[in-house]
Amino acid sequence: MARVFNFSAGPAVLPEEVLREAAEEMLDYNGTGMSVMEMSHRSKAFEQIIGDAEKDLRELMNIPDNYKVLFLQGGASQQFAMVPMNLMKNRVADHIKTGQWAKKAISEGKIYGKINVIASSEDKTFTYIPDLKNLKISEDADYVYICHNNTIYGTKFHELPDTGDKILVADMSSDFLSEPVDVTKYGLIFAGAQKNVGPAGVVIVIIREDLITEEVLPGTPTMLKYKTHADNGSLYNTPPAYGIYICGKVFKWVKKLGGLEAMKKRNEEKAAILYDFLDSSKLFKGTVVKKDRSLMNVPFVTGNEELDAKFVKEAKAVGFENLKGHRTVGGMRASIYNAMPIEGVKALVEFMKKFEAENA
Ligand code: PMP
Repeated sequence: MARVFNFSAGPAVLPEEVLREAAEEMLDYNGTGMSVMEMSHRSKAFEQIIGDAEKDLRELMNIPDNYKVLFLQGGASQQFAMVPMNLMKNRVADHIKTGQWAKKAISEGKIYGKINVIASSEDKTFTYIPDLKNLKISEDADYVYICHNNTIYGTKFHELPDTGDKILVADMSSDFLSEPVDVTKYGLIFAGAQKNVGPAGVVIVIIREDLITEEVLPGTPTMLKYKTHADNGSLYNTPPAYGIYICGKVFKWVKKLGGLEAMKKRNEEKAAILYDFLDSSKLFKGTVVKKDRSLMNVPFVTGNEELDAKFVKEAKAVGFENLKGHRTVGGMRASIYNAMPIEGVKALVEFMKKFEAENA
């Protein structure tokens, strides 16, 4: 069996240890005689799985008691609608436009109310995070929305906007659990699982309790109310049970490695290997303003589309998968999530050096 180095932006590499454990437990989970896939979500065994997953996540992120943790479905994209449906009391929200996913949240928000784009980096193809100093937060805004890590463009909010008494909502799909987070700064955090924490099909929502109310926009379906899921411990209906089980294993893996401080250190070390090379290379160059670089998604180009394509093809041939940049940007992108081993990044840089020597 040969595993490749998978640089996919998502679904993405998971810890090999987690996959092996899941494989071992596939036919008989913990003496139950069945797979977690076959198990009632109301069973004792599953109650323990979801309970432990929540407990471990709370511990990892230091989530205060006045926040609920929800395991939902519909992907991160469904949150683009659930957030306004549940939080847009005045039908106004302020958004910072930093990429494709931020734009999708804006378009979806517009179905429900007025969206003010209070800052944007669209003028330079989203290669930076806008200046957050003199933001004009709207008096009537129900919340301020950011996409914390921009998967496609490879930028990240290293600082947060000062939103005063306004609720901050963040899409953390592509940097969830990559470093410590001060949850108290947010009203709501959501993340699709399929990058840093598990298989597609699970979306994690961390929401302050006072924001969970029955006062949602008229017509909001039962399944799209946070209250429905909060009141039922994410078991209102059948949850994405197997996915939650894998997320739980990833949480334990992160804990074992030392928690989020350790993850941050590890991720900084990995990213530095790649960024340092990009900064010194005569052929490759990073596309993002240095101070706004993501630790998770690293886009780069040669400046020549044909050479980019050649690089992606040759890299694939020797076991570096999914290095092609997003279809809207071109070039290359290496996603180096928590589970990408440092050996993968080192090997990629060695390969890039060789390619540079042959093609510069
Ligand atoms: N937000 C971000 C930051 C993403 O990277 C993605 C997916 N790549 C999404 C939202 C959409 O996620 P999903 O496919 O789970 O709806």
